[in-house]
Amino acid sequence: MAQKKQHIELQPWQDPKEKPYIHLEGVSKDFRGTVAVDDVTLSIFQGEFFSLLGPSGCGKSTLLRMLAGFEMPSKGKIYIDGVDVTHRPAYDRPVNMMFQSYALFPHMTVEQNVAFGLKQERIFKGEIQERVKDALKLVQMEKFGSRRPHQLSGGQRQRVALARSLVKRPKLLLLDEPLAALDKRLREQTQFELVNIQEEVGITFILVTHDQEEAMTMSSRLGIMDHGRMRQIGTPNEIYEYPHSEYVADFIGSINKFEGRIVEDERDHILVESEEAGCELYVSHSADAPLGAQVKVAIRPEKIMIATTPPEQKRNTTKGIVKDVGYLGDVSIYHVELEGGKIILATQPNLVRLAERPVTWDDEVYLFWRAENSIILTA
Ligand code: ATP
Repeated sequence: MAQKKQHIELQPWQDPKEKPYIHLEGVSKDFRGTVAVDDVTLSIFQGEFFSLLGPSGCGKSTLLRMLAGFEMPSKGKIYIDGVDVTHRPAYDRPVNMMFQSYALFPHMTVEQNVAFGLKQERIFKGEIQERVKDALKLVQMEKFGSRRPHQLSGGQRQRVALARSLVKRPKLLLLDEPLAALDKRLREQTQFELVNIQEEVGITFILVTHDQEEAMTMSSRLGIMDHGRMRQIGTPNEIYEYPHSEYVADFIGSINKFEGRIVEDERDHILVESEEAGCELYVSHSADAPLGAQVKVAIRPEKIMIATTPPEQKRNTTKGIVKDVGYLGDVSIYHVELEGGKIILATQPNLVRLAERPVTWDDEVYLFWRAENSIILTA
């Protein structure tokens, strides 16, 4: 987590004087009629942990492969460290890629696997030994040097593959679903290790993943893709709290949405009339939409409070019946049906409630939220 904090302080993408380490300018890839990547412009800064996220087939791997030099763009330019590498082959880029299947050589020991790339580069033997030792230490596998891949667990094999990528000291490491083969617990543990290693070696990581939680925990910034296009780029917090579109809002976490019409449009707030919500929706920010426009107001389930007695606030307050309660240990998810039939999700931490009895099935409840916790979605 320290890595994320560092980036929140630095935020090089907000500094106009900062030069990006990687820059893609209008990059597209067309596979004979299938547009895999569509006009992507993107800057990534040195030392960032950038994740590409999106549903299957949205073009994440193709974008990564173009950065690595395994695919050539149909259009656009790719710059690494200010140099145009668009037409350079993979071996001539300061980049290493770690693939979905780690593909360790089964007949070689862990040490030989890690040393393989260095031997091909004809590096002096003593230096190879030193670098292999350092790389294995970094991934905490120094005790396993003489084992073969079949004598290791999935997580250990993954770390060897990581050591093999790091030993070549690339300036940029591309990771395509590196943790996909691991079970949930091991994946979570490895995510933290990966962040720590990245912080220690200071190289730029670009990760492709399906797993939104993984991307949210590890990244300095994320890029959310959809049908080859980049829909939004931002820090995990920006993407979660301020999605620009319904697509991004739906993709990350769950979200409640009310359809409605803007009836008041001021600089500091917007009022939306919504039959679906059964109340006036007051949103404390402006929107890119005119008075009278149809919009959606979105609220995350954990931002909705739930009570059996009416709250003091009138706006952003609606009523419904609890239809289902999902107990997840630390939190409960309430499915509440509003008078108009819409189902709203509200998540509550399972703290001891002092003043109130716990909410349960068939209760009539009030749902309410703060104006600053809802957002207007116009796209
Ligand atoms: P996944 O998460 O499933 O790996 P992805 O987001 O990485 O998906 P890509 O592998 O980049 O998606 O594929 C994007 C689109 O390009 C898909 O429609 C895919 O079928 C197509 N595609 C990828 N590689 C090729 C190829 N070599 N020839 C033709 N079409 C391809």
